[in-house]
Amino acid sequence: MPILDAANPLSFFKGMNGVFLDVITRERDKKAFLDALLPRAYETFEGSVDACSNGPGSLACRGGCASCCTIRVAATAPEILYIAQHLRNLAEEESSGQWMRDLLGRLLEANNATHGVGEQDRMEQGTVCPFIEDGLCVIYDRRPLACRGHASFSEQACIDALNGEEIAVPVSSLHLTVRSLIQNALQSALRDTRLEWGVYELNQALEIALRNPQIDAEWLAGADVFADAAITDVSAEEMAETFDAIKAMAA
Ligand code: SF4
Repeated sequence: MPILDAANPLSFFKGMNGVFLDVITRERDKKAFLDALLPRAYETFEGSVDACSNGPGSLACRGGCASCCTIRVAATAPEILYIAQHLRNLAEEESSGQWMRDLLGRLLEANNATHGVGEQDRMEQGTVCPFIEDGLCVIYDRRPLACRGHASFSEQACIDALNGEEIAVPVSSLHLTVRSLIQNALQSALRDTRLEWGVYELNQALEIALRNPQIDAEWLAGADVFADAAITDVSAEEMAETFDAIKAMAA
């Protein structure tokens, strides 16, 4: 698996694009496709951040602090389907009945509150992610790249920002960079294999996914199943041109 060399990010992008292309081509017809695809992205993220950071301890992020979990989460279709699959599996466990009903209730509430709200307004609104319980993310192992890429050096700055202060939170540019490189390499591979490759608002897309038991098959057949939840801050044409230019440069 490629690991980011900070001096050569384009080579890392190309390597990850190749890994994702290979997995999609070989595994897309198999039941465990998402289990083959997403752990590669997440393990590479963690490995690259570890390899390029100046040792542990400088980040303020810790279990129990969920100050940043009011952000709008922009996730790719396979990341959303991977979480939906996990929630469906949990829903089948008899013991999870009430817990799951509560979680789904919070998801619907959050979606109603944040539907159509832009990124900045969302922060100011302060609606907490429905996956937070007692300060912890209950889908931590499957949280999207967007969540992994948001890492702060100051808990107090996060709390102040959450309380509405106009303050620049000192975030890790390394985490942001690794997130972008891996997410874009994944999007590029999805595009190359004619799968929908946009990013979508997590709550709304998950609600769509959980209402449609055929959604994995429809997405694999090429449908834009999360179109209503699409985030289009950057045009698809612009992104596609950038992906192609980077791949050509890194060749
Ligand atoms: S998915 Fe988890 S990490 Fe991401 S915003 Fe929600 S609670 Fe936070």
